Amino acid sequence: MKRIALIAHDNMKPALIEWCEHNKTILAQHDLCGTGTTAAKISEKTGLLVKGYSSGPLGGDQQIGAKVAEGAIDIIIFFSDPLTAQPHDPDVKALLRIAQVYDIPIANNRATADCIVKSGLLA
Ligand code: PGA
Repeated sequence: MKRIALIAHDNMKPALIEWCEHNKTILAQHDLCGTGTTAAKISEKTGLLVKGYSSGPLGGDQQIGAKVAEGAIDIIIFFSDPLTAQPHDPDVKALLRIAQVYDIPIANNRATADCIVKSGLLA
């Protein structure tokens, strides 16, 4: 069982929810968490159990980053918005950096998320 963090900026939430729905059977076999609003919406729309941390702008990305540093996250699916400025941009950058430091697979778009699903990592 992998520990998977799910995060999406507001404009990208529909795409992440759709991706979760599409991969629901596989995701249901893993331990899911996410930033507050993302986790709540995925749970509501797909029925998947997703533990929610704080909302991203209120520190959720940092909480997930701390879990990465503790060795408690295996994979991050983070649909960030490339076209909209985020008030918590420093936190977003920090999460990307800490995932890089700990060599955690992190998908920032659907194509990469699909690669992770097909990679056998979730088998
Ligand atoms: P949210 O946070 O899931 O609480 O909207 C995501 C983010 O903006 O990082």
